[in-house]
Amino acid sequence: MQNSSAGPNITPGVGRRIVIAGGGYAGTTLAVKLARGLKPGDDLEILLVEPNPCQQALSELDLVAVGPPRPDFCELWHPNVFKDLPVTICYNRIDKVRADESLVTIGPRGSSAEEVPYWRLAIATGAVAFVPPVHGLAEHAVTMWSVDDAQELQRRIEAQFRAAIVLADRTERRRALSFVVVGAGATGMEIVGTLGQMLPKRALDFGLDPADLSVHLVEGRPDILYDLPETLRAKVRKRLDKLGIVLHLGSMVERVEEGVIHLADGRELPAPVLCFCGGAKPDPDAVAWGLAADPSGRLVVDEFNKAPSHSDVYIIGDVSAFRDPKGNRTLPMLAQFAIHQAEHCAENILAEARGGQPKPFVPNMHGEFVSVGPTWGAGWMLNGRNLTGFPAIVMKRLTYVLYWWIVGGIPLAFKRTREMLKMFR
Ligand SMILES: Cc1cc2nc3c(=O)[nH]c(=O)nc-3n(C[C@H](O)[C@H](O)[C@H](O)COP(=O)(O)OP(=O)(O)OC[C@H]3O[C@@H](n4cnc5c(N)ncnc54)[C@H](O)[C@@H]3O)c2cc1C
Repeated sequence: MQNSSAGPNITPGVGRRIVIAGGGYAGTTLAVKLARGLKPGDDLEILLVEPNPCQQALSELDLVAVGPPRPDFCELWHPNVFKDLPVTICYNRIDKVRADESLVTIGPRGSSAEEVPYWRLAIATGAVAFVPPVHGLAEHAVTMWSVDDAQELQRRIEAQFRAAIVLADRTERRRALSFVVVGAGATGMEIVGTLGQMLPKRALDFGLDPADLSVHLVEGRPDILYDLPETLRAKVRKRLDKLGIVLHLGSMVERVEEGVIHLADGRELPAPVLCFCGGAKPDPDAVAWGLAADPSGRLVVDEFNKAPSHSDVYIIGDVSAFRDPKGNRTLPMLAQFAIHQAEHCAENILAEARGGQPKPFVPNMHGEFVSVGPTWGAGWMLNGRNLTGFPAIVMKRLTYVLYWWIVGGIPLAFKRTREMLKMFR
């Protein structure tokens, strides 16, 4: 059976309905795992509600943020993923959750909205970019949390190259070719690294002198990449230096005006293209659904990844605040945890459907890799081994391949790997 419905007119289900809100890493993995795990006799129906017909694989955004590859490289089409699976896809938003009545409202408010009851609900609506209330920041900066953002950055870079090529004065040209990224966490690092590695080639394509380019990384804290050990951070700093990226550490952004960023220490940088990668916050839709949240707004979950107040509601991925008892810290917003939570959630839901009990979730971090340009990375693996350079980037890209394999099996993993390798030729 392959069901895909574009509107809210969902045929009344015959079985117990599992509603999945959000088709990102967590929601897609959960739907696939549930569908593959169904046995004859399971009276379960899987309904995935996601406004976009494709998953945006955000951890691949660094590959497409600067171009020239097509930004849609990191889109994973749901109709392909669910082609042979018993999943009904509804390309819409969940507007409201009435957890006390086990009901969701799908679609826009008003007459076309539809109320759908569920047996289990999995909230997997992710996170969005967070922009602090710094004067002019939201107005002038592009964030990096969607394919649209990547496209916007590509568009601004190109517009800037076109603006620079008509300038005769070298100083003016250099001002026009100044690119600034704010935030030296993993996302900012990946974007600035890609800018540092790719912009010189792109400048040459436009007939511009790469020596006129400058790329700046601004960070309010005294160092970069706090999640990585110091030995790796030192290597990343060296790599940034090699790419000619100017690092401004301990520099808070005070205000932004058209083409200029003002730092709190009084300095200003030309910033005709400004990318803000300073943070993320949980999906605002889910935050409004009345479930308990932690101070950052992420929804609180118990050891099963369930809402403590409602045992029929699972919350997984970036939107959930799972407290890892091992380190007594909330899990970071990472695709690897979203996928792991989803796999575990599928097992629990299937166990519950067959009269069993859910098992507690035990998170396990297998490693962490950050790219600094498309062909260089840094990170560590399960055994605590640090890697940098090409081996590290291979490990990072292997995590993409693993995900493609999880949701699409060998055919998808093979097809996407070929596409990815073509990008580096
Ligand atoms: C540039 C960048 C690089 C990254 N690199 C890495 C990396 O290298 N490694 C790593 O582990 N992680 C990385 N991450 C983090 C990773 O992408 C996230 O942790 C992951 O996307 C979380 O998955 P998720 O399913 O919770 O949310 P998402 O993948 O964001 O999916 C949420 C989905 O919910 C949908 N949705 C929202 N509201 C509603 C609603 N009301 N109704 C229905 N659907 C809704 C959205 O449309 C979206 O499709 C990166 C993130 C970014 C931005």
